[in-house]
Amino acid sequence: MEILNSGKVIEYLKRAKKIAVLTGAGISAESGIPTFRGENGLWTKLSPNELASFEAFYNNTAIVSEWYNHRREIIEDSKPNHGHYALVELSKIPEVFNLITQNIDGLHQKAGYTDVIELHGNILESYCIQCGRRYTSEEFEEIYLNAMNHIPRCNCGGLIRPDVVWFGESLPSESIERAYQASINADVFLSIGTSAQVVPASDLPRYAKRNGALLIEVNPNRTVLTDTVDLWLQGKAGEILPKFVEEYRAILET
Ligand SMILES: [Zn+2]
Repeated sequence: MEILNSGKVIEYLKRAKKIAVLTGAGISAESGIPTFRGENGLWTKLSPNELASFEAFYNNTAIVSEWYNHRREIIEDSKPNHGHYALVELSKIPEVFNLITQNIDGLHQKAGYTDVIELHGNILESYCIQCGRRYTSEEFEEIYLNAMNHIPRCNCGGLIRPDVVWFGESLPSESIERAYQASINADVFLSIGTSAQVVPASDLPRYAKRNGALLIEVNPNRTVLTDTVDLWLQGKAGEILPKFVEEYRAILET
């Protein structure tokens, strides 16, 4: 059974020069990345909402750092799935390809696609809040293991925080601009594993469609977007995307 079987979809895909993709938590969940609730640790009495702010980090640096270090370790050990790899293959097809993600796990990069537009940062990277010096995951681990009182500090004495966007913080402006541009210019836009309810992720598919893109959704569940898309491919990214790429290639060869 072919998933690309509508004439309109096939015509759009044949002519597409620019493809934009937005990925959300669904594709990460398929790699076994948990939601980090109800586990053991200093943070168990606090909800993620109470941990994910600069205020929380500043006032309870040891607890918040432990929580993020725990998540970092799990993500460091996780592997991309067939969905991530299929997107690397998809990136080779059009003249212009843009991959936008709400995920902070770096799994697209691990799969081999490096130019990711990250809306919410990347938990594998850290920086000093005082001098701005950046730290890789390995460098952070080294510092964290030897940190006094479990408080990671830079050589300059400043606190080292994960490079993720916390509640109350603005999203990285360069990524936002690139994401909007990519969406507005796209001929085909794929929304994958995201409920598309948080701005700007909720705007991107709508902007793409308004500017003439074919809108495709890959999700096992119905979302607020589903009624507006040109094609809903119901299922997991890891199952749908490899098929999608295979059929897309076949379409281009005919
Ligand atoms: Zn510093």
